Amino acid sequence: MTFLNAYDVIVIGSGTVGLSVALALSQKTALRIAILDIKKPVYHWSSENYSTRVSAISLASKKFLQTLSIWKTLAEKRVSPYRKMQVWDGEGDGSIDFDCEEIAETALGYIIEDDLLRSVLFDKIQQTNIQIIAPITLKDLFDRENHMECVSDDGKNFSAKLVIAADGARSWVRDYRRILMKTWSYHHIAIVATVKTELPHQQIAYQCFSAAGPLAFLPLQDPCTSSIVWSQISSKAEKLLMMTDEDFKLSLANALHHRLGKILSVSPRFSFPLQMRHVKNYVQPRLALIGDAAHTLHPLAGQGVNLGLADVDKLVNVIVEAIRKKQDFSSVQVLRRYERFRKAENFTMLAMMDVLKNLFATEMAVIKQLRNKGLSFVNQCHILKKFLINSAN
Ligand SMILES: Cc1cc2nc3c(=O)[nH]c(=O)nc-3n(C[C@H](O)[C@H](O)[C@H](O)COP(=O)(O)OP(=O)(O)OC[C@H]3O[C@@H](n4cnc5c(N)ncnc54)[C@H](O)[C@@H]3O)c2cc1C
Repeated sequence: MTFLNAYDVIVIGSGTVGLSVALALSQKTALRIAILDIKKPVYHWSSENYSTRVSAISLASKKFLQTLSIWKTLAEKRVSPYRKMQVWDGEGDGSIDFDCEEIAETALGYIIEDDLLRSVLFDKIQQTNIQIIAPITLKDLFDRENHMECVSDDGKNFSAKLVIAADGARSWVRDYRRILMKTWSYHHIAIVATVKTELPHQQIAYQCFSAAGPLAFLPLQDPCTSSIVWSQISSKAEKLLMMTDEDFKLSLANALHHRLGKILSVSPRFSFPLQMRHVKNYVQPRLALIGDAAHTLHPLAGQGVNLGLADVDKLVNVIVEAIRKKQDFSSVQVLRRYERFRKAENFTMLAMMDVLKNLFATEMAVIKQLRNKGLSFVNQCHILKKFLINSAN
């Protein structure tokens, strides 16, 4: 041991969720906070290009980012609202159109580049007392009588009353603490890229479902530029990744049924194997898991960051309330309040994604027919559509 750094809260992971929880806690409490990350935070956002990784941010997440006082900065730099959404069955005639006017809003949500969101959060954190310690590789996480102790591979020790694990889908904390998790592969690989199209997107998000997987076009600020997330069964995705740009552009335009005309250009493509993960317990004494460390789901409804930010909001409220009542904010009794709320809500969303993915993966003619009729029925039903929009928010 070379030295001991004592904090009230240590956040492990400086992704969107880790940065958000540290910032929210620093704004609402006087706790001493440190963020530890295995990588040095480096962001590549520039207004000249669009980053390939983007997230569809819900209205609830927008409200949360407003409470962190970063929405204005994001909006000044670049957020791309989508006002409408067209969802259709690529193997039938069923479709649903969503419109922000149905919920009396000016947008259904916003497309934000991941690097931009993280860099704005990071800049805001620079104005606080939060310490960012990175790069650092942790090798042990011990329970001591009144605190947790993190030990790095070069012998540094850090202590905190509470450790928040926000270290992503392959969470080291989750593995080290042997936290049980339900997990399976979706047998899909998501291909992401930025594309220019012949026709303007008119701030409409497009999502086409086919048996091999869903394709989403997310409108960016430029009227003819969209970010795509094309999830396909692994064998098909591998073929798409091997294609020349010309062949890929043709396949993509076909898969979107030419709703945006020809694909004029495509950026380098990146791929992500998709896996469902959900931990059995979100909390232990002096430890809470949030964001992808606690759950990952299919990106077909673009909910990963949104669920992570909802975790942050709940956990921070529970901690603030405990401090106000002079309770031990790191006790398992307090942390369970966070788990109770978030586990049920996240489970519902994870289950819905599974139902949707399997509903569209089926080759059974009867199910296909029912599915198309169902989509058309929902499309006629204003109340049901409003309910669906509100559930995604
Ligand atoms: C193709 C695709 C499209 C998506 N689209 C959307 C969308 O439209 N909308 C949406 O809401 N979500 C979307 N998601 C999900 C979203 O990207 C994730 O849910 C979100 O990025 C998770 O954030 P996080 O901060 O929990 O984890 P991460 O962003 O993974 O951050 C984890 C952090 O922990 C650090 N770390 C890792 N290991 C260690 C360690 N051992 N020690 C210390 N630090 C460590 C990492 O360096 C990183 O900084 C999508 C996902 C995919 C794959």
